[in-house]
Amino acid sequence: MSSARGSKAGGRPVTVERLVVIGGDAAGMSAASQARRLLDPDELEITALERGGWTSYSACGIPYLVGGLVDTVDELISRTPSEFRSRQHIDVRMRTEATSIDLDRAEVSIRRVESGEEATLGFDQLMIATGARPLRPDVPGLDATGVYGVATLDDGWNIRRAVVEDKPRRAVVLGGGYIGVEMAEVLLERGLDVTVVLADPLPLALLDEDMGERVCAAMTRMGIEVVTCSPVTGIEAASDGGVRRVVSETGAHDADIVVLGLGVKPDADLGRAAGLAVGDSGGLIVDERQACRDGVWAAGDCTETVHRLTGKRLSIALGTHANKQGRIAGTNIGGGMATFPGVLGTAITKVGKTEIGRTGLSSREIEQAGFVADSTVVESTTRAGYYPGAASIATKLLHERDTGRLLGAQIVGGPGSAKRIDVYAAALWNEMTVADIAGMDLSYAPPFSPTLDPVTITARKAARA
Ligand SMILES: Cc1cc2nc3c(=O)[nH]c(=O)nc-3n(C[C@H](O)[C@H](O)[C@H](O)COP(=O)(O)OP(=O)(O)OC[C@H]3O[C@@H](n4cnc5c(N)ncnc54)[C@H](O)[C@@H]3O)c2cc1C
Repeated sequence: MSSARGSKAGGRPVTVERLVVIGGDAAGMSAASQARRLLDPDELEITALERGGWTSYSACGIPYLVGGLVDTVDELISRTPSEFRSRQHIDVRMRTEATSIDLDRAEVSIRRVESGEEATLGFDQLMIATGARPLRPDVPGLDATGVYGVATLDDGWNIRRAVVEDKPRRAVVLGGGYIGVEMAEVLLERGLDVTVVLADPLPLALLDEDMGERVCAAMTRMGIEVVTCSPVTGIEAASDGGVRRVVSETGAHDADIVVLGLGVKPDADLGRAAGLAVGDSGGLIVDERQACRDGVWAAGDCTETVHRLTGKRLSIALGTHANKQGRIAGTNIGGGMATFPGVLGTAITKVGKTEIGRTGLSSREIEQAGFVADSTVVESTTRAGYYPGAASIATKLLHERDTGRLLGAQIVGGPGSAKRIDVYAAALWNEMTVADIAGMDLSYAPPFSPTLDPVTITARKAARA
């Protein structure tokens, strides 16, 4: 182990510490970059291991790569391995997999993906940022040609290539979470007939039923067939091995291409095998500094985080959390002090022109958490009714009956709707009541909102309820 660590203010270090980062995307490289901001290369040696072919990439952009709104994979990469090396003196080892962690010896075993060559790497600080694994249904036929995951940039590029070169006519998307609906949108825009097959009664299960129904209706109006309450039971291939149809509990759906958008689970296997604690959701347990234990840190999709309203630990796979948590870990690794304040479950997406936002707890989550709440739904417009482009917007608020404190908000509406959820997220963060929100000084001009924004109108109505 290294000894005393110097700091920029404290003169030269006695020994250079070694940080090993496992996972070269949002959480891992945010941590590495932040640690480097705080400590020079003669204070901290940073080695990052990435088994794939890219660092700091935007998986969030995959649907738009498939849809052709983004032309190349390169546009989805915010920093390449050579940029990390030259600008930040971070030794990024690509196509290098961490195969095990020995916490007693403070060593990581590594394997070069292509050559199979193995080695060990000692560390003083370890950052685990292995992300999440896509869920795959346990059904026959997943190996048929034309069945694609949608987790990596390779997946995205392969789907795009297949859509452009093989010219499939019918797509089946399995799963109706935000990745499923985004993939359905872009495949439809590419001219395919699209069917979304769900096990749930509605798409976007994190919404209340009345709001999910609005999304489902919007998808149907766009021409997407939505098959609900129908778990997939198998995928059938033609004699040439190419996918032919998807069979679900309520029927069979012809398909030339199948996209698996069934969600993810934390990839915590390495940490678990090393003896680190894993929570009920399957993510590594970290404290508010993102520490698993002394000198071992973790962040992003492989971890659990705390919900600010319920105090419960949960896994939410979002890039926005992974980046922030990675930065927190990096600050602490670099000798600073930072804590992650938890999450509210804020998320947005869109399908066609319909935008969706949610924050806080849904009605079901409120019930599970034991709150007693009232709900308020208001239909309004995104702009002054007379201004061109005004679209309908439905806003739902859930507030605690006794105190009026906001507990959750959901928005479904036309262009300009979804980002309004951030006002409610800020209100939730600050434990505001619906009456507080109704009195907030929000902006107004006809191209942007009616005189009273839907955010205000709904809060006002809720405060009177
Ligand atoms: C299609 C799609 C759309 C999305 N859209 C959004 C969005 O709109 N908004 C949002 O907030 N989030 C979105 N996300 C989620 C977001 O991309 C993830 O939450 C984020 O990438 C998590 O970052 P991470 O660093 O924790 O994990 P990852 O990005 O999964 O990175 C983990 C890295 O670790 C590597 N790795 C794993 N194990 C090892 C090992 N043993 N050795 C070496 N390397 C290893 C992996 O190859 C991977 O590169 C989307 C995801 C997808 C797939």
